[in-house]
Amino acid sequence: MLLTDVDRFIIPTAVIDRTDTALREAGRRGAEKFVLWTGHVVGRVFTAATAYVPDQVPHRLPDGVCVTVDGDALHGLNKWLYEHQQTLAVQVHSHPTRAYHSDTDDTYPIVTQRGGLSLVVPNFAAAGIRGSGTALYRLSGSGWHRQRGWTARRLLVLDGEAPRNGAAI
Ligand SMILES: [Zn+2]
Repeated sequence: MLLTDVDRFIIPTAVIDRTDTALREAGRRGAEKFVLWTGHVVGRVFTAATAYVPDQVPHRLPDGVCVTVDGDALHGLNKWLYEHQQTLAVQVHSHPTRAYHSDTDDTYPIVTQRGGLSLVVPNFAAAGIRGSGTALYRLSGSGWHRQRGWTARRLLVLDGEAPRNGAAI
């Protein structure tokens, strides 16, 4: 099942809350954080099952902060996905201030499958993923494109429930 076929990404409350907690905890140390939403695609619906936190290294740069996930951590992620029969569909990361896809975010995403999503959460997630200012992007053949307003809300269903006929979670 391809992510390009998915027109609804359902994210249960527990996954969002775990992610907010991880982003804020890193933020208290002045660090950005990546959390990955993995789960199952059934038909045109992706349902997140896990907030996966890959091993990562925060960096302080003259013009800000960033975080990197190295090859070993990506290998560990792929092994975990295979063992748990889950798909990586959404990457979430925090920024110290405004949320947008930086050049680095465009060039070095963790989600590399077309149709996948990237959420950027402002202010180290002080207001959380549900707060205002969170930016949503989707990967197409021509790169990452911002999704806004009604389109974004229909695509990404926060606090949604898994469909009853969905895959076991
Ligand atoms: Zn970023």
